[in-house]
Amino acid sequence: MLAKRMPSILPPLTFEEALETTKIHSISGMLSPDTPLITKRPFRSPHHTISSAGLAGGGSVPRPGEASLAHNGVLFLDELAEFDRRTLELLRQPLEDGKVTISRAAGSVPYPCIIMLIGAMNPCPCGYFGHPKRKCICSKNKVAQYLSKISGPMLDRFDLHIEAAPVEFADLSSKEKEESSSDIRARVIAARELQSQRFKGTDITCNAHMSAAKLREVCVMTDSALKMMHDLFDRLGLSARAHDKILKVARTIADLDGCEVIDRKHVAEAAQYRSLDRKYWSGG
Ligand SMILES: [Zn+2]
Repeated sequence: MLAKRMPSILPPLTFEEALETTKIHSISGMLSPDTPLITKRPFRSPHHTISSAGLAGGGSVPRPGEASLAHNGVLFLDELAEFDRRTLELLRQPLEDGKVTISRAAGSVPYPCIIMLIGAMNPCPCGYFGHPKRKCICSKNKVAQYLSKISGPMLDRFDLHIEAAPVEFADLSSKEKEESSSDIRARVIAARELQSQRFKGTDITCNAHMSAAKLREVCVMTDSALKMMHDLFDRLGLSARAHDKILKVARTIADLDGCEVIDRKHVAEAAQYRSLDRKYWSGG
C-alpha cells in the first residue's frame, strides 16, 4: 500500500521530464489518444513472472522494458524474491547509469530509466520470520535460500530498507488524524526546490543522482556528524557505495529539515534505514 501511494507524494513532472517519459510510452505504442502528454509520474508494477526483456528492455526489434516505461517515476517490484534472480541483476547497471543499453548487430539503443525502484518482500517463504508474535515454520536453510535471491550488490542499491511491522489493533482503530499525502508532498517539493537550486546548471535533478565528486562538495557535515559517519564506516564495514548512499540520504533528511549543514541526527536517521541487511542478510 505504501508503494502504491508513493506517486502521491512525489513532485510534479517538469516539462522536460514529461516529454522524455511521453517519448518512451509513444515508441512503445502505449500512449493513449486522450493523454498525448504524460503529466503524471509513471507507476509500473510488473508481475514477478516477467521476462528479462520485459523488465529491462530488449527483443529482436528492441523495445523499452518496464524499467524505461517507469522513467521519471516509480518501478515497483512486489514479491521481490519471487523474481528471477538473473532478471533482477539486469537492473543493477541501469540503476547506476540511468539508462538501459540494448545492443544488436545493427547498433545499440539507449533507453533512459531514471527511476525510483521500490521492492517489497517477505522475510521468508511463510512470511513470519522475525515476527514478534507468530512463529515461522521455515527451516534455517529455507530462509537463507529465500533471502539469497537478492544478491548483496542488488541489496546495496536500495537507499532505504524499511521493515513493515505488523499493524496493531490500536492503530487500526485509532481516530488520530494522519498527515495527508498533500501535506507530505508540500515538504517533498520544498526539499526538491533546494536541490534544484543546488544542482542548477547540471542535469542532476535530486540528491540521489549526484556524483561522488559532487557528494563531497555538497554534503558538508558538522564535526559530530562526521565522527558518527566515521564510526559507522568502521563498525559496520560499509562499502564505498553504502557510505555514499547513507550520505545522500542524510543530505536529503537535512534538506527536509531545512538545514544546510548535515548534523549528527540526520546521519543517524539515514544509517537506520540500512539496518535490515544486517538483521536478515548477514545471519543476524
Ligand atoms: Zn517462515
